Amino acid sequence: MRKEVIKANRIVIKVGTSTLIYPNGTINLAAIDQLAFVLSDLHNRGKEVVLVSSGAVGVGMHKMNRSTRPATIPEQQAIAAIGQAELMNIYNQRFTVYNQQTAQILVTRDVIDFPESRKNVVNTLEQLLAMGTIPIVNENDTVAVDELDHLTKFGDNDQLSAIVTKLINADLLIVLSDIDGFYSDNPTVNPNAKMYQTVTAIDNTLMEQAGGAGSTFGTGGMHSKLKAALRIFEAQSTMILANGKDPKIIFDLLAGKEIGTLFKEEQS
Ligand code: ADP
Repeated sequence: MRKEVIKANRIVIKVGTSTLIYPNGTINLAAIDQLAFVLSDLHNRGKEVVLVSSGAVGVGMHKMNRSTRPATIPEQQAIAAIGQAELMNIYNQRFTVYNQQTAQILVTRDVIDFPESRKNVVNTLEQLLAMGTIPIVNENDTVAVDELDHLTKFGDNDQLSAIVTKLINADLLIVLSDIDGFYSDNPTVNPNAKMYQTVTAIDNTLMEQAGGAGSTFGTGGMHSKLKAALRIFEAQSTMILANGKDPKIIFDLLAGKEIGTLFKEEQS
């Protein structure tokens, strides 16, 4: 049993493009609906929930009937702008079914570097939570291009979700990915890779198992997940990495079941 997880009251949930978009480029409505159902239910239980959602470029591509990612950054930004509005549209439709109000927050990761903008973001998030809404956060792709530099699959909303967790002192960050947890090696290429149930410290060995620094492109996004976990350790919070193919997994996670990988720094 993971007691600290059962007790978590303020929770940030991050979903990657792989959870929201099918490999053929169409929108995974079942996953989005499940997500809306689960998060609305958590809210009804009295929990405070923030969703960090990728998917703007994927949804934009679908909307504009494009099967390949646009080549230039301005085109990607335009597609993201189209997709972000459409994604919020879909979220709103689904959350409305469960009588849950949402809100859109678009930020850049450097908000934490400027006390004034940082304060504004915190105030808005706190107010939205106090009003009983579920804020849906994404990087402002018009202003920041870092996320767009990568293929959406390897986008770095992991950092953004860890930053949001720290900003609002959330008790828990749940990162939903296309893999069951963090393994000793990439399980899609090494069948002998073992999944960690708990990670209490992030050292060079772990970084190498994630694919090593700077090789995010070739090896998947685990390096960015470990970097997010480091931020979570700094904030003395807790993170779980789990498979988002069925968002109802969130219920099991919050019941304390030992699924996915728990990142919790060992207190000395
Ligand atoms: P998301 O888009 O959900 O954020 P990513 O595609 O960026 O997820 O990262 C998940 C992928 O990372 C996995 O599908 C797997 O192929 C790869 N990967 C590389 N190394 C590891 C590892 N040590 N443990 C788990 N997955 C790994």
